[in-house]
Amino acid sequence: MVDKSTVKIKVEHLNKKFGSLEVLKDISTEVYGGEVVCVIGPSGSGKSTFLRCLNRLEKASAGLIVVDGEEILSKQVNINHVREKIGMVFQHFNLFNNLNIIDNLTLAPVELGKCSREEATERAKKMLERVGLEDKANSFPSQLSGGQKQRVAIARALCMEPDIMLFDEPTSALDPEMVGEVLQVMKSLAADGMTMVIVTHEMGFAREVADRVIFMDGGYIVEEGTPQEVLLNPKEERTIDFLNKVL
Ligand code: ADP
Ligand code: MG
Repeated sequence: MVDKSTVKIKVEHLNKKFGSLEVLKDISTEVYGGEVVCVIGPSGSGKSTFLRCLNRLEKASAGLIVVDGEEILSKQVNINHVREKIGMVFQHFNLFNNLNIIDNLTLAPVELGKCSREEATERAKKMLERVGLEDKANSFPSQLSGGQKQRVAIARALCMEPDIMLFDEPTSALDPEMVGEVLQVMKSLAADGMTMVIVTHEMGFAREVADRVIFMDGGYIVEEGTPQEVLLNPKEERTIDFLNKVL
């Protein structure tokens, strides 16, 4: 399903510093249309920062990032317009606890003037169905399990009709028995051709679903390739060490 004729994200010589701490060092890569890229690596290696630079939640210090043909670091770019095309799902759901599920899903599309409330509600119901939670429209986040909350967070991102989905350890905060239901939703998105960049420690998922795996360490992409190459036949010492610890 990877469409190599469409580059959705292009990153060239990306560098990110927090003060004097250099967290990303000369990152270059491309993500194609429909591609599923899993980013793995030890804690502190810069995975979250890399993901957050892609929608400018963090401002890159140097380099080039092009999303859907738009240079997002340029001063002229309308970053809100870019962000509408990029859905993001975090480890800790970030739902609005004072709003019921349907209101969580319609808030952004309505506030941003993307569509009418009626249209937003229609789409929200469809997206809830897609993640298997159509019966929870009127529930509040506190009434849902962690796995259900994360599926709502995915549905909420989908309500903006993004072109690209970014996931930062979406299952890391979940009890083990809830990991599967969230990965299942992500797998179905991948099968539908969504372009996805996923930071994850779920090596089984990466092996099964990823078109490409990126191994990061110390702010660098140390190794990237197919799951077969990176997870089963790693070349670099640091990749081998990491995999020995997590597998
Ligand atoms: P990972 O997601 O791979 O665990 P992060 O991208 O979260 O790594 O962090 C990479 C490095 O950047 C770490 O040393 C972390 O402490 C540092 N870092 C992350 N965010 C900030 C911030 N807002 N200010 C200062 N340092 C940060
Ligand atoms: Mg992280």
